[in-house]
Amino acid sequence: MDQSTLTGGYIFDIQGFSVHDGPGCRTLIFLKGCPLRCLWCSNPEGIRPFPEPLYKETKCLFDLYCLQACPYKTIKLTGGKETPRLEFDRDKCAHCNTYDCVKACLTGALGQGGYFISLPELYSRIERDRQYWGVNGGITLTGGEPFAQPEFTTGILKMCYEAFIHTAVETCGDIPWNHIEPSLPWLDWIFFDLKHMDETAHKLLTSSSNRTILENARRLAVSFKGRLVFRMPLVPGRNDSDENIRATAEFILSCGFKELNILPVHHLGREKYLLTGQTYMLQDLEMNAREQLLAIKDRFIELGVSCYPGSETPF
Ligand code: SF4
Ligand code: SF4
Repeated sequence: MDQSTLTGGYIFDIQGFSVHDGPGCRTLIFLKGCPLRCLWCSNPEGIRPFPEPLYKETKCLFDLYCLQACPYKTIKLTGGKETPRLEFDRDKCAHCNTYDCVKACLTGALGQGGYFISLPELYSRIERDRQYWGVNGGITLTGGEPFAQPEFTTGILKMCYEAFIHTAVETCGDIPWNHIEPSLPWLDWIFFDLKHMDETAHKLLTSSSNRTILENARRLAVSFKGRLVFRMPLVPGRNDSDENIRATAEFILSCGFKELNILPVHHLGREKYLLTGQTYMLQDLEMNAREQLLAIKDRFIELGVSCYPGSETPF
């Protein structure tokens, strides 16, 4: 496949039958690439913008078939005889379309972390699911950050919208406005993340300022005609103080919005950090108990925000 002649983008997963990311039953499409580095990210394989190998060391025999197969010589054996390790230069893998290493591995120690898909291919995959959605269902683009691939995102949203498919996007919001705006006519629904209202605390949680995010939310209040539901991942002790809850509620209401879905963070993505050569920083974090989640929900409601905990949403 000559990707240069095709319009498309990089994704790392497609999941059918989701009932938590928009109305009805939905097909989720996970796009590669995200500008944030959230400490709790449960899809670390979505952070880098291009394909990369996923490496499960516990399945590795160190027979080095992958090393010999790689045309770019990006795999190195380190650690000596006693503690052998494979290291991947993932920046070089970004230019690889073949995954020869994965094909050469006989044990399943290597897998594909993302692949290119053309718009027509993706659309026909979506069409296959359509019969299972029911009346309210559709697609939700998530990731990674869908607006990090703006032409791809606009393209697939437009194709779906024109075919009367309900369209939703989940965004971190830290994206230039001119990457978001072209998609708005083809969007029914936006989930928009708010992680912390204080800029310094936001940087500590995500490695990025919240200025662009807040500015984009204000712009969407004026420009977006569909339904926008904010989402707030609750990180115990980091963003669940009453001060931040109050500031978040005030911001939502000041934009003219009123809906918020609070999501307890979890450790489910922890194993995937190893597969992608990254370090998970929150292993010692205790998760919020259900009572705490419900107390935070009640506090938001008291402050005038329609707050839905976890998957207990009215859509
Ligand atoms: S993904 Fe491609 S470049 Fe990277 S190790 Fe595998 S074959 Fe080599
Ligand atoms: S081919 Fe598979 S089992 Fe062999 S060294 Fe590479 S990752 Fe390990």
